Amino acid sequence: MEIALTEEERQLAEAARSFVRKEIAPIAERMDREDYFPRDVFRRLGEHGFLGITIPTEWEGLGLSYRAQAIILEEIARASPALALSVGAHSNLFANNLACNGSDRLREEFLPPAVRGEAIGALALTEPNAGSDAVSIRTRAIRDGDAYVLDGTKQFITNGPVADLLLVYAKTAPDRGSRGISAFLVRREMEGFSVAKSLDKMGMRGSPTGELAFQGVRVPAEYRIGEENDGARIMMSGLNVERAVLAAIPVGIIAECLDRSLDYARLREQFGQKIGRFELIQEKIANMYTDLEASRLLLYRALDAVASDDRSRRAAAAALTFASEASTRCALEAIQVYGGYGYMRDLPLERLARDAKLLEIGAGTSEIRRLIIAQELLGPEFED
Ligand SMILES: Cc1cc2nc3c(=O)[nH]c(=O)nc-3n(C[C@H](O)[C@H](O)[C@H](O)COP(=O)(O)OP(=O)(O)OC[C@H]3O[C@@H](n4cnc5c(N)ncnc54)[C@H](O)[C@@H]3O)c2cc1C
Repeated sequence: MEIALTEEERQLAEAARSFVRKEIAPIAERMDREDYFPRDVFRRLGEHGFLGITIPTEWEGLGLSYRAQAIILEEIARASPALALSVGAHSNLFANNLACNGSDRLREEFLPPAVRGEAIGALALTEPNAGSDAVSIRTRAIRDGDAYVLDGTKQFITNGPVADLLLVYAKTAPDRGSRGISAFLVRREMEGFSVAKSLDKMGMRGSPTGELAFQGVRVPAEYRIGEENDGARIMMSGLNVERAVLAAIPVGIIAECLDRSLDYARLREQFGQKIGRFELIQEKIANMYTDLEASRLLLYRALDAVASDDRSRRAAAAALTFASEASTRCALEAIQVYGGYGYMRDLPLERLARDAKLLEIGAGTSEIRRLIIAQELLGPEFED
């Protein structure tokens, strides 16, 4: 089964490919080496409409589907998974969540600058002691007159060091477990907010990741996103969309690894023949192709599921589990096809392998995704 793109999707993919070739491919290596975030390119992504794919047109977005969002991320990821991760955190985790759950006042004020790339968004859920067990976050939001006062620390936040706008989860009723969490919009310039640390990573370098501190940050009550204590519902539905859309990044990595392996297998000669003639190299290419097809089919199946408001979470969890592990596998195999040259930093393959590994960890680890799949299949009495 081929994934049939609509004419609009085909044109979007072509526009993204051309942008990536001109603006992103030339800086991808520098982003990695210098851990450099290209704010100017981010802005131009906004100017081209790539940051507001799923945002309704009334807030300056393109009003397109999650499929369209995935198409953009796949194209960016082929050159720079790190930039794709930052775009995903901005467009999907922050802006799409705000569009789905925010009040009209918040959407009117904050979505247009986010869509234009003038303001960078992030989502802050994880804490030093609350990763997989997200419901045990300790950041508090205590109501005080017409505001909430936020105190706590967030860990591993994509775009955190550069973000202007943050969607932050905090406990409004700590004794009520998952029913005591609320979501808030926090602006960088609010007093008491600071970037405690910019984190140095194995991969996804150039996508800034930070530890963030909230010390008595007064957030106006109207900056609450959704109802008080309804944060877990927003978080879970957002995570489902996030997993589905994010699976486009490993698909991009696999596609790049396959194309580069094909090029080299056709070119490189050993023992008087092209290495593509060796069956052990052919096996690697066949496996990469199979991983690519399987990952892409699972991706589009998951995108259909989230678009049809299917409440089940296993399609998105399965897509990201399979595609992320396949992308690590394919990047390592592509290095093997290139032999010693593949191990050199002149080629992007070792960077793609380092970047791919993150996709087995972020948006819920592979282990947590497997728990979601199994528990949903087993039935409600097996769910946490
Ligand atoms: C580069 C990067 C970017 C990120 N971006 C963001 C972001 O933008 N916003 C945000 O909020 N968070 C972000 N995260 C955080 C990410 O979602 C967490 O790292 C992830 O959920 C895992 O949490 P943890 O790191 O605390 O690991 P832990 O939860 O401590 O897990 C440690 C190990 O135990 C396993 N484990 C945990 N519980 C179980 C269980 N019940 N059964 C079996 N195994 C289990 C895990 O799978 C893992 O192998 C990011 C992380 C990274 C590394």
